[in-house]
Amino acid sequence: MPQPSARISHIVPSGKNGWEVHFAALARKEAGDKIIMLSVGDHDFDTPEGTVEACVEAVRAGYHHYTQLPGLPRLREGFAKLSQECTGVETSADEVLVTIGGQGALYAAFQGILDPGSHAVIVSPYYATYPGTVRAAGGRYTEIETYAENGFEPRLEEIEAALEPDTRAILINSPNNPTGAIYSRSTMEQIAEICRQRDLWLLSDEVYWTIRADVDHVSPRSLPGMKDRTLVINSLSKSHGMTGWRIGWLTGPAEMIAVMTNLNLVATYGIPDFVSRAAIAAVENGFGVKEIAERYKRRRDAFLDAIHGMNGVIVRGSQGGMYVMLDIRAVEEDSEKFAWDLLAAENVAVMPGASFGEAANGHIRISLCQEEEVLREAAQRIRRFAGEKL
Ligand code: PLP
Repeated sequence: MPQPSARISHIVPSGKNGWEVHFAALARKEAGDKIIMLSVGDHDFDTPEGTVEACVEAVRAGYHHYTQLPGLPRLREGFAKLSQECTGVETSADEVLVTIGGQGALYAAFQGILDPGSHAVIVSPYYATYPGTVRAAGGRYTEIETYAENGFEPRLEEIEAALEPDTRAILINSPNNPTGAIYSRSTMEQIAEICRQRDLWLLSDEVYWTIRADVDHVSPRSLPGMKDRTLVINSLSKSHGMTGWRIGWLTGPAEMIAVMTNLNLVATYGIPDFVSRAAIAAVENGFGVKEIAERYKRRRDAFLDAIHGMNGVIVRGSQGGMYVMLDIRAVEEDSEKFAWDLLAAENVAVMPGASFGEAANGHIRISLCQEEEVLREAAQRIRRFAGEKL
């Protein structure tokens, strides 16, 4: 066979994608083993009924056709309103590009700002697709580490030290996957200051903004001088219970959105018609948003309560998003080993921290995508397992 392009071959250079424990657990589950799956960030419940109904109606009503490249006007309007709520900044429809999920928005953002060889800074631990998305745009990146002791918030000096002459962007994610951290206003202000001084884009992944404990969500787009240099990645996957529908959007300056619409021309030729109609109903009616946020809050409380005081293991972050991070260094430094051993001994699947960058090795990520009693049972098993290893 002739060779694939170097660019595509290097998207996942090691051949390891970090999901090995998860897929092994899934295979065992499918073979009949009873495994508690805390490894995946996908809801264990279905999309709210109102959204499903709207989709069925749209299919029956003949919405089977191509849509406008930046998205249907009414959907862009809806997303603009939602962006306004999320970021606190007045937003118009021409500042919105509809994408295939939040991942599509990330992809569009990096394609839109990186030239081959140009550089970005990403904050570790990070959502597992970030490095590959930079590479897919032909870019390079430097990871800056954040630390459990510091609530996983990035430090100004480390960001500054990572900057290069051709750095184009910094990518941040709050509420954070995997740590559950929500960045404080002062952290956001410091990052914004660097972006203004160095004339950088700030990519702000805010897909978990509706799911949080009693902590304010500060979008950097709302800070002085940031509206024209911030691209906000957003999605209905988590907030509206629509992971499999693949619908998200990017918010940014109208001129930039106009340029990036060309990507929808060549990559997707627009978003599915009936999915767009269902998304309009979901956004205009807020189907599921409040219930989903409350459900994850109850689950977080239940898990934290059950794991509280566990020997040698410390809970980190957990202010928002769908995850809790456990610091297991007192028990085991190697997070992959811990995750494999936990699966073998207790039939609980978690994500090793190392899957999210070196900064999270020595930690495991617990996904809250199970009912409260299952999370309590999982906490007991983790306690037992860690206790035996100590
Ligand atoms: N950003 C973060 C931080 C995520 O955790 C995810 C999905 O888990 C995404 C983006 C991608 O979202 P979507 O499923 O809408 O593509």
